Amino acid sequence: MAYQSVNPANGEILRSFDQHTDEELQNALATADKTYRSIWSTMNIRDRAKIVGGAASLMLERKESLARLTSLEMGKRISEGREEVDLSAAILQYYAENAETFLAPKILESKAGSARLEYSPLGVLIGVQPWNYPYYQLSRFAAPQLMAGNVVLVKHASSVPQCALAFEQLFTDAGSPAGAYTNLFLSNDQVAALIDDPRVSGVALTGSERAGESIASRAGKNLKKSTMELGGSDAFIVLEDCDLKFAVTMAVAGRMYNAGQTCVGSKRFIVVGTRAEQFLNAFRDGLKQLKPGDPLDEATTLGPMASDTALSLLLKQVREAVAHGARVFTGGDRLGKTGAYMQPTILTGVTPDNPAYRQEFFGPVALFFTAKDEDEAIAIANDSPYGLGGSVYTSDIEHGKEVASRIETGMVLINYPSMSAPELPFGGIKRSGYGRELSSLGIEEFVNKKLIWVAPAPALAS
Ligand code: NAP
Repeated sequence: MAYQSVNPANGEILRSFDQHTDEELQNALATADKTYRSIWSTMNIRDRAKIVGGAASLMLERKESLARLTSLEMGKRISEGREEVDLSAAILQYYAENAETFLAPKILESKAGSARLEYSPLGVLIGVQPWNYPYYQLSRFAAPQLMAGNVVLVKHASSVPQCALAFEQLFTDAGSPAGAYTNLFLSNDQVAALIDDPRVSGVALTGSERAGESIASRAGKNLKKSTMELGGSDAFIVLEDCDLKFAVTMAVAGRMYNAGQTCVGSKRFIVVGTRAEQFLNAFRDGLKQLKPGDPLDEATTLGPMASDTALSLLLKQVREAVAHGARVFTGGDRLGKTGAYMQPTILTGVTPDNPAYRQEFFGPVALFFTAKDEDEAIAIANDSPYGLGGSVYTSDIEHGKEVASRIETGMVLINYPSMSAPELPFGGIKRSGYGRELSSLGIEEFVNKKLIWVAPAPALAS
């Protein structure tokens, strides 16, 4: 069964779902296209806002059951699940409240005549989304696109079907017409066929580079707009003047939130100067204090990874890194016999000729580097195929900003490992993808920015 909920804490199969047939897919596409043309794109934006804002309210009302589902389907600790629900609802609400302002026509200053820019929707969009933040990713894609007047067909990861259905239900219950937000259980081939269909105008993917290459090339072949939110290997740069104890606390949080399965999680720890060993030992001690357990238990501070498959992939990466010369400073193996638990791990001695140096470790594994000075730390940070996020730790904020400006990624934080807010843009460069989600930038990705220009009076006369 392709779409299946399996509890990663104990391996129990919770529910299975049939994939949608090609006929069901065609019916869903026809409904989406009709809804786009006859209802959604022509609806007053304030009426769309009532539905999207209504979904936000329902999300908060259902916080506990929604959070519980994330624990059951992908092992998220229950407190993190609640935080994800809060953020996802905030994103829905943010676009419900601000889309009208973002999409208001803009007067353009021009010597050529009177000009303005109008925003109009493109049509049916596809969203292909990952399991690691099963509601946040959906909100990030759906909220701006629905408010812009597009309709969305969503293919969620096959491991979180119950979260996918629960999110769709929010829109149904908020009064959304059929076809505005549609969840589909699809194969990769069916996604490809959808991208080829002339009724589809664009596709947004959040996921791996492998999926990115496949979906972006398919969209490119069809000359359709795409956005790619892909992997990352964010640097965590510890400068000599920082409060080391604080930096260590941030390091543990930055590497271990969501069991290390965050695209903007801190993955490469680069410590400048003489305090590297002190940092490394304290980081290990901090990781050792985490308490593994059931993600539904409030006392648990180390949940399982999202699946046995994810754990096996990570263990394979660690073994290969070691085979190429890395050293396991702590951890390095699975934790216990039941469930997809991984020991928090630090690898040292990862040299540029080790394949691990350029890989994303999507789980509780940290790569540790030392740098003789700040320039070397920045050079290590930038020596990556990825360009998603990163963070800098310093007591001199202005200097921290200067360092941040030299880091080649889409987002750099100072004195905090990773965060996301509805009003702040999210996205990367290099192999981390292209395009931006959230903020006013996110709603501009899939709209027609149309120029309307009026010839000056003398032009008409001549
Ligand atoms: P993944 O395997 O690429 O899966 C993501 C989604 O893409 C799933 O729905 C998956 O479906 C689908 N998919 C995979 N290959 C496809 C193809 N050829 N055609 C159509 N759909 C395809 O990614 P993952 O390993 O689950 O997720 C982790 C990755 O996502 C990490 O690299 C992480 O850094 C990245 N990520 C990035 C961001 C960001 O904002 N930049 C945010 C979160 C995660 P199935 O489940 O059915 O395979």
